Amino acid sequence: MLHKAVDVALALVLILMFGDLRELYQEVILDHGKNPRNFGTLENYSHTAEGSNPMCGDQLTVYVKVDEDNKIEDVSFEAKGCAISIASASIMSEIVKGKTIDEVDSLFSYFHKLCTGEETQQTNHVEEDIEKLKVMSGVNQFPSRIKCATMSWHAVDSAIKSENA
Ligand code: ZN
Repeated sequence: MLHKAVDVALALVLILMFGDLRELYQEVILDHGKNPRNFGTLENYSHTAEGSNPMCGDQLTVYVKVDEDNKIEDVSFEAKGCAISIASASIMSEIVKGKTIDEVDSLFSYFHKLCTGEETQQTNHVEEDIEKLKVMSGVNQFPSRIKCATMSWHAVDSAIKSENA
């Protein structure tokens, strides 16, 4: 149960970092980690890809249904791993649904910057999406956990860019 101990430690540090936002952020991560949205396989998916993070033992498969307008009509994932990886995949699935491939690309690069602590420019993303992504941004203090948070985004990105339609 090393994962559990590490997640509790991470949650404690997040509490110290985020001040007033701490409870909200912690609640959101725990909620998505326990009750991941869009979990399971997808019937009639057009694209799929796998992601793994051997450092932490996280594994995931994403299924995406892209329509003829290059929009993500539906998305789901199956995963096992730490709470951070599950929560991030769950949040990712909520955000990318209904987005175009280009929008996902741009959201992923924004999220990647958040997680690695790079400067993020003013974006034209929906405020609601940005708020959801910021929930995971505490991982930028933990280089070893960045992959946990970004793995699902890497997977969905390589799925929609693949030719397995
Ligand atoms: Zn992990």
